[in-house]
Amino acid sequence: MEVSKRCAVMQFSPIRRFNTFAFEAEEQGKKVYRLNIGQPDIETPPCFKEAINNYEQKVIAYAESGGVNELLDAMIYYMKRDFGMEYERKDILVTNGGSEALILAFTALLNPGEEAIIAEPFYTNYNTFCNEVSGVLKPITTNAEDGYNWAKRDLIEAAITDKTKIICCLSPGNPTGRVLTLEDMKLIGEIAKEHDLWILSDEVYREFVYDGAEAHSFGQLDDIADRVILVDSVSKRWSACGARIGAAISKNKEFMEALLKLAQGRLCVPTLEQIGAAALYRMDKSYYDAAKAEYEARRDAAYDEISKIPGVVCQKPAGSFYMMCKLPVDNIEDFLMFMLKEFDDNGETAMFAPAPGFYATKGLGGNEMRIAYVLSPDKMRRACELIKLGVAAYNASK
Ligand SMILES: *Cc1c(COP(=O)(O)O)cnc(C)c1O
Repeated sequence: MEVSKRCAVMQFSPIRRFNTFAFEAEEQGKKVYRLNIGQPDIETPPCFKEAINNYEQKVIAYAESGGVNELLDAMIYYMKRDFGMEYERKDILVTNGGSEALILAFTALLNPGEEAIIAEPFYTNYNTFCNEVSGVLKPITTNAEDGYNWAKRDLIEAAITDKTKIICCLSPGNPTGRVLTLEDMKLIGEIAKEHDLWILSDEVYREFVYDGAEAHSFGQLDDIADRVILVDSVSKRWSACGARIGAAISKNKEFMEALLKLAQGRLCVPTLEQIGAAALYRMDKSYYDAAKAEYEARRDAAYDEISKIPGVVCQKPAGSFYMMCKLPVDNIEDFLMFMLKEFDDNGETAMFAPAPGFYATKGLGGNEMRIAYVLSPDKMRRACELIKLGVAAYNASK
């Protein structure tokens, strides 16, 4: 017996792979600052649980496959209030997190062998989503020196072939923190129109843009509404990763019908979590102003400290809660192992995500890391100081 070729070629998450070594370090009594995964520590707004506690039905029944109306209406309210976007219930499909929205979208759009273009480094699970339907991810390579910018006509057009169906846009980006401006979005929209491509826009970090910048969405561009698919989620915006609520949103009727057929096969998304999520979508805007100020302070602390490493290449990220940096080390995975196994400063060390797993092109990212600024500013400062001390100790040990 054999598993499918599709699964045989897939990899385990390169982000979680190093956790075992972190546990070992902790068993030896070391304190490990974990900057490797994007699990925010900000409290989930209490209205989520309150809404669930107030749910009065005696039976937890299946919900509609497309989502419960309370949640659809709350999403419509939020998109109109904060972004001036006009959507109707039929334009939205509630999913098990943004992840399921992406899986369903790839399934609905790609035939085996067809291509989606995506700027690398990118969120590694796109490999899984695309692989599941035997699609092909075509990378647009970006680099640290240029701040991971990919919104350039020549770069994008060079990646387009006669098999291309989708341009994937992750903004604010994970792992780079790169943010597409409204001008960038218009350019990508023009290219998509000229080459007749879908735009799959992963906007799960939509509000997390800093330095006074305004958040934007591909949903604000009316002239490309028929080719835009938005992916949304409560995970990051409201620090509710375990709720598993997201959505795929599009004004393209054919696409939404394909999606609904797929969604009917998995019946529905958990009913109670949808009720909780509806309360989140109706929360006051002031909630993210506070969350954003906190992340911005964390980013500033991290960037300030990381910049002190001699030879580092890093630009201050404009959004999300990740930062990519190129370090003066020969091999980032070796360096991470060194941090976990050999290094400590007063019994403390730090952990990050090595970058090669975020690239589709083999051999890239060998001296880059991603850090998630998900700890308080003081802790971020200390963790980045530990990386700085670690780089010096690692290079001295060579
Ligand atoms: C976290 C994340 C997702 C999906 O998260 P869900 O918890 O499934 O909503 C999707 N895209 C990016 C870029 C992410 O960082």
